[in-house]
Amino acid sequence: MTNSQVRVRFAPSPTGYLHVGGLRTALYNFLFAKKNNGKFILRIEDTDRNRYVEGAVENLIKALKWAGLQYDEGPDIGGPFGPYMQSQRLEIYKKYADELISRGKAYYCFCTPERLEVLREEQQKMKLPQAKYDKHCLHLSNSQIEENLAKGIPKVVRLNVEPDQKIEFDDIIREHVEFDSNNVDDQVLIKSDGYPTYHLANVVDDHLMQITHVIRGEEWLSSTPKHVLLYDAFGWERPKFAHLPLLLNPDRSKLSKRQGDVAVEDYRDKGYLREALINFVALLGWNAGDDKEFYYLNELIEKFSLERVNKAGAVFDLQKLNWLNAEHLRRKPDTELLLLLKEEISKSELKDKNIPDGKLLLIIAAMKERVTFVKDFIFNCMYFYKSPSEYEQKAVEKNWREDTPQHLLKLKSEFEKLVNPTKEDYEHALSKVADELNIGKGKLIHPLRLAVSGQSTGPGMFDLLFILGKDEVLNRIESAIKNIKV
Ligand code: GLU
Repeated sequence: MTNSQVRVRFAPSPTGYLHVGGLRTALYNFLFAKKNNGKFILRIEDTDRNRYVEGAVENLIKALKWAGLQYDEGPDIGGPFGPYMQSQRLEIYKKYADELISRGKAYYCFCTPERLEVLREEQQKMKLPQAKYDKHCLHLSNSQIEENLAKGIPKVVRLNVEPDQKIEFDDIIREHVEFDSNNVDDQVLIKSDGYPTYHLANVVDDHLMQITHVIRGEEWLSSTPKHVLLYDAFGWERPKFAHLPLLLNPDRSKLSKRQGDVAVEDYRDKGYLREALINFVALLGWNAGDDKEFYYLNELIEKFSLERVNKAGAVFDLQKLNWLNAEHLRRKPDTELLLLLKEEISKSELKDKNIPDGKLLLIIAAMKERVTFVKDFIFNCMYFYKSPSEYEQKAVEKNWREDTPQHLLKLKSEFEKLVNPTKEDYEHALSKVADELNIGKGKLIHPLRLAVSGQSTGPGMFDLLFILGKDEVLNRIESAIKNIKV
């Protein structure tokens, strides 16, 4: 290879959205590039016109950028090896396919879909492990080929796979891998519509773009013998391969839409932080060799190595993602959470309420240890923004006694005396009332919480009172006395 710099690529097919498995592949490529001062390239593999989805490329780019995985070369930013969209490189693939044909490594095939279907049925009847092309067109004479081409008979170009060969390659994760060439079909390289297949375009581009390491999902392992044959047929140096373990549902089936979200944008829309999703995805098949699970992207870059990627499938555990989200959220400065919270508020029913930043910061401080998502600062504690319209029934049954209204009225009149009360002022006032009534403080705190928040749990009682403010507290005690019926 002329270039000794590490060059890796993420090469998605634009099928609509970025799959979390794709995010993992992109992330490992990114980490490997950054760790080795190399380049990370985005290449769009869009030569399958049947699978083309409008807007998919834009979606992919948006999701990668959201995740913070900025590439060094790519379709929207260019680079020295562009274009980076395969549909804009058709001439290149044609030229290389012609080269293989002229060297006997590939050949034209004019077989009709009907003939191929009959062949497949025959092979099925013979119980062959897999359908394979029978090399019929490899034996056409030059003049037959010329004639067919002149007549414009539909054709494909196929790779000429020599039988009885051992195809071997090394994989950084799976170590030594061997395939028997008798199990490898004479793969189509150029389809009848003139477009290349994934195999040809992928190998030609990896070579021309000077890719040093091919890091991709395990589902591509069975394509690798074909790629290796192509590198050898061209006389090109092979890149190093690393096939990443499958992602599994908790029941160990292959990760699928049916069991949960698979699109990165779904996680984003549900309120997962990019830092948490990246951290989580990094651990799907990799660990640094210790128990550490909390990472920022820069630490991942420092620690990452392909040698520590597992062979075994990685289970997608949503509980762990939630835990990481809460951890990342807690470690953010309150000022950053404020911006995120204001964004959530602007999308919620509270959007027209003018809530001062000071109040939001107090809510953040009070709730930080109790939330998983930024939106929980709203929906887990609506009582900060609106007085309760209902009261938790179980808590009413448990904590609201006949004498409760009388106790709360006494508390209310004690609170009325306070001027600009602090948390401590509320606390002293409550202790005083408890003493006077000769009851435990809990006998006041539980009904008071219920009265002001409608709930039985939440942040510290006196934080809650302080954040609500005296007038609001007094009003809420009054309405609770009026509205709570046992
Ligand atoms: N276009 C393939 C995909 O959609 C790329 C596989 C590879 O990285 O070689 O994942």
